[in-house]
Amino acid sequence: MKTYAFPGIIDSDILKIGAEQIPYMRTKEFGDMNKESEELLLKFIGCAGGRTIIYTGSGTGAMSAVVENYVSTKNKAIVIDGGTFGHRWSQLCDYYGCHHVDIVLDFGKDIDYDELEAKISEERPDVLLCQHHETSSGQLYDLFRLSTVCQRFGVSLVVDVVSSFLAEELDMNKLGIDICITSTQKGLNIPPGLSIIFLNKRLNDYQFHNNGFYWDFSENLRNLTRGQTPYSPATMLYMMLNKRLHQIESQGVASVINKVHERAHFFRTLCKRYSWNIVASNPSYAISGFDVNRNGDIIFRKMIEMYNTFIMPGSKPGFFRVSHMGIQSEDDLRTLAEQIHSIERL
Ligand SMILES: *Cc1c(COP(=O)(O)O)cnc(C)c1O
Repeated sequence: MKTYAFPGIIDSDILKIGAEQIPYMRTKEFGDMNKESEELLLKFIGCAGGRTIIYTGSGTGAMSAVVENYVSTKNKAIVIDGGTFGHRWSQLCDYYGCHHVDIVLDFGKDIDYDELEAKISEERPDVLLCQHHETSSGQLYDLFRLSTVCQRFGVSLVVDVVSSFLAEELDMNKLGIDICITSTQKGLNIPPGLSIIFLNKRLNDYQFHNNGFYWDFSENLRNLTRGQTPYSPATMLYMMLNKRLHQIESQGVASVINKVHERAHFFRTLCKRYSWNIVASNPSYAISGFDVNRNGDIIFRKMIEMYNTFIMPGSKPGFFRVSHMGIQSEDDLRTLAEQIHSIERL
């Protein structure tokens, strides 16, 4: 099997952990392992002095947690709604009754940063919710510009980096980001099931709201000071996470990110060859999202049936996404492009 969907092809040492017996987790060893994971995570994202919460739950759980515990303490949020995931912030604010104004963008389009600044100056929100990479289209936003505007108006910046962490450069302290969230099945390239909240050290004494039992920041943070979780953790995934973080540490974060960039560059030369249009105006390296020219209605199924290969369909006909996270070589990508093209010609 080949997969260019999330989490991509996983390293075999990580997979082996899944075949082992599961140790009891209320031990000093499990706690120490998680404390170490926290340290590595904070280092990789430039959040020295901050905290993490590692939840058993998918990325949306972490988004929900942020709205319950943090956004609910604010008067007004401004949401960048540039696709499925941006829209999810907006839905979560509705769900929890948080006042919000949405900036709705066309598919694959960048933010008009001057317009955003005007809107912030008029609306005076106290928190901005966005994605770094809107995975539904492949669009990458300019966090430096977002952070500049936020700092000018004293707006707290919250960024969903689920699909950009370890695919794009990112430094929370440098950018003045208060909260980031990610999950395990994208840049971390291990199975889905854990999500991670990064809290900037500026929030160390923040009075969060206690609006949801399972995701409660205070309760989770209290337990995590010993590396423990309030409820049963997906033990195996915490072990895979720790192993993966060590692998990244020994390869170097910059080199991990650089590999993603190289794969994306290479695949995009193939897109050009086959005249597949990259849709995003400023595409992230994390995925390539492109329009095919023919047979868009059968490509997804045929790739599975003919080649045992997964690519990701998109939210519009003829649009597909290929992830560049996970193990893949130039030969793999060349073969993938040839296979997609062969179905185009059927
Ligand atoms: C994948 C993803 C999520 C989380 O989705 P889950 O299915 O809940 O893991 C959130 N935001 C972005 C940008 C994503 O790509």
